[in-house]
Amino acid sequence: MDSKKYLMGVDIGTTSTKAVIFDRKGAVISQHTVGYPLLSPTPSTAEQEPEEILRAVFTCIKQNMAESLVSPDDLELISFSSAMHSVIAVDAKGNALTKSITWADNRSASYAEKIKEELNGHEVYLKTGTPIHPMSPLSKLLWMKHELNEAYTLAHKFIGIKEYVFYKLFGVFLIDYSIASSTGMMNLEKLEWDQEALSIAGITSEKLSTLVPTTHVVKGLAPELADKLGLRTETPFIIGASDGVLSNLGVNAIEPGVVAVTIGTSGAIRTVSDRPITDQKGRTFCYALTDKHWVIGGPVNNGGMTFRWVRDQFGAAEAETAKRLGVDPYEMLTEIAKKVSPGADGLLFHPYMAGERAPLWNANARGSFFGLALYHKKEHMIRAVLEGVIFNLYSVLLALQELIGIPKGVQATGGFARSALWRQMMADIFNQDVTIPESFESSCLGAVILGLYALEEIDDFSIVSEMVGSTHQHKPNPENVDTYQELMSIFLSVSRSLEDEYKQIADFQRKRLEM
Ligand code: ADP
Repeated sequence: MDSKKYLMGVDIGTTSTKAVIFDRKGAVISQHTVGYPLLSPTPSTAEQEPEEILRAVFTCIKQNMAESLVSPDDLELISFSSAMHSVIAVDAKGNALTKSITWADNRSASYAEKIKEELNGHEVYLKTGTPIHPMSPLSKLLWMKHELNEAYTLAHKFIGIKEYVFYKLFGVFLIDYSIASSTGMMNLEKLEWDQEALSIAGITSEKLSTLVPTTHVVKGLAPELADKLGLRTETPFIIGASDGVLSNLGVNAIEPGVVAVTIGTSGAIRTVSDRPITDQKGRTFCYALTDKHWVIGGPVNNGGMTFRWVRDQFGAAEAETAKRLGVDPYEMLTEIAKKVSPGADGLLFHPYMAGERAPLWNANARGSFFGLALYHKKEHMIRAVLEGVIFNLYSVLLALQELIGIPKGVQATGGFARSALWRQMMADIFNQDVTIPESFESSCLGAVILGLYALEEIDDFSIVSEMVGSTHQHKPNPENVDTYQELMSIFLSVSRSLEDEYKQIADFQRKRLEM
């Protein structure tokens, strides 16, 4: 391999676009980020301006080339990652007729419900791998047909944000198997648009982009555009995949049996299988990385946001002290939680404050403390919140285990990994070795590794273990494992038995909030 060459990964995310130039060893040479807003004129709307995102992508590429001083001749490839589930209606010239409707937009909630209840939704999920949910383009198109009919009728095509960017670069409508597998409309076995899903959306396949593998390479930038971006006209652009599956690659969770867990504001758990697998109980997603690598897992709404809630609602005094001492308030709160032994002396917390996706797929689920006794103090409650987030992720892991067996290790990332206590809880509750990879922009790193694979410079992904180091490792403590296993069965049965009550309390809250 030519050691002089550099690689650029571009990740089109929901809050910002990032572009990173790496060398062949995975070291970051330069990076550039441009943020943009999520427009929310009503509580259930979450959309973005496609042109603003396109500008951000162009700026990131251009600035990265300029700041890194990498010569265009030394940039071997650009490979793309993007957020899943976005929909933009466009005309025949690729002009947007709507904003980019993101995964977080909930306006199609009642249509998702209808697909589930009346339109054979579960069977459609089994074929397409995307849970029936307002996040998915399938639900959004059915909603658009009824509620945004003018754009729906006028649309030449319905595309996602990465397709929009590629159209503006090369004038072709292409969608990779990975983003397509998150639309709820691609048949995973056939790698074709699924007729039943299309008929639910009320469209034919001409209304969607042409399906291509994630390793698809496009070249031939118009000279003015190449000049503007600081690239060669022949720089290979790799279409790439979605941010979630690329992050598995970028944190070195690509071997069978290795699970990637991330806990930031929300969370997710994912593992790779060599074939598509969906869940008879509908708890997991299945998205493509390549035709030989399928990422299965579950997204959870309630990750670090619950700890942020503790900090903001109950941690004012600690936050004040932390400020005085110049330490992070989360660290102070974690110190307090440490005073209590694992299991919080029998206090459980169900973290469903924002409803929940995996494993319950129930927007009505709500949070609760269970087992409160007079001896429980604030420190118990803090510890129970931290443990509850991990118990919930463990319940998603249990669903995954039914499909792929017991994992052989966990690679964990996200804000939670700053806390040694929280990391050890994961090792103890999961009863697994937990490694924290040194992950810098894992989706961008995943994208460039996929790019090397696309250009046939590597025949597999084993190179990733040399490119990703690790920072911390935690082993389960057998005594704690026993305590947590005992509590886990109570945790599960409480949330299972509250399904009706979750709906009742959510209905009550909605009525109150609307008053
Ligand atoms: P995002 O999801 O926005 O990318 P992060 O990955 O930074 O966010 O995660 C933010 C969450 O990480 C916070 O809500 C908090 O729960 C947790 N967190 C951040 N710092 C710490 C810390 N020092 N100790 C424990 N948890 C932390």
